Amino acid sequence: MSRIVYVNGEYLPEGEAQVSIFDRGFLMADGVYEVTTVIDGKLIDFDGHFTRLERSLSELDIRNPMDRDRWLEAHRELIARNGLDLGMIYLQVTRGAPGDRDFIFPDPETTPPTVVLFTQSNPALVDSPKARKGIKVISIDDIRWGRRDIKTVQLLYPSMGKMMAQKQGADDAWMVQDGEVTEGTSNNAYIIKNGRIITRKLSNDILHGITRAAVLRFAREAQMPVEERGFTLEEAKAADEAFVTSASTFVMPVVEIDGVRLGEGVPGPLASRLREIYIEESRKAAI
Ligand code: PMP
Repeated sequence: MSRIVYVNGEYLPEGEAQVSIFDRGFLMADGVYEVTTVIDGKLIDFDGHFTRLERSLSELDIRNPMDRDRWLEAHRELIARNGLDLGMIYLQVTRGAPGDRDFIFPDPETTPPTVVLFTQSNPALVDSPKARKGIKVISIDDIRWGRRDIKTVQLLYPSMGKMMAQKQGADDAWMVQDGEVTEGTSNNAYIIKNGRIITRKLSNDILHGITRAAVLRFAREAQMPVEERGFTLEEAKAADEAFVTSASTFVMPVVEIDGVRLGEGVPGPLASRLREIYIEESRKAAI
């Protein structure tokens, strides 16, 4: 079935949607994105994603083309037009299409940002076979740029990381810088040792996950101690449990790191509990 997508103010069948070949998102990865989960046809943490979008745009001097309510309306309209129950809304804003290729930013008065939104359906989002088994990760060097806190569309290295993992029979990769894990290719990384949840603190080294913020809040409310600090791969391999978080995977247990099994090699009790709490609470707060 053909989707209805949003391009610069218009709702169109996906086959009719167009973006210029001069778009700076296409030529220079000069754009940012967000992924917001939809459960029961409602948006999870919409305001968190909107706030991060505003920040990503302002760090790159791209004008936010719409206010919160118009963004919300576009999200809801796409959910309705596509009958989306479980899945995601992907949004992307680029610096626009100046009509030629030039390193210098175009004048925003004459080159408006390009805005694209589309839906992705995922019926296995909540009742996920992967979450029941847990995932395997490999480690790779983190060779990305220094502003990972900005959610840009420069996803080539993360994409290569997932391919390296796939080639080794794993599901994903954790990236390592100066001996410590930064994050997963498309998620934040955590270990649990003696009941304590350990995850790298926020800085320009990692994306400030919206799911991370919610999960740490729920963990603290459930009296689970949280330590925001870096951890090494050796520490991770000796952990009781591990997991990753992202809007599209919620809390996903990790059962193997570089071929080393954690605990019994099945999802641990705390990660599983956090997943349940996250889904339950997010469902309640969805808009
Ligand atoms: N880190 C990276 C590198 C990511 O790409 C993502 C997801 N896009 C995350 C963390 C998780 O962020 P969120 O919880 O907001 O989806």
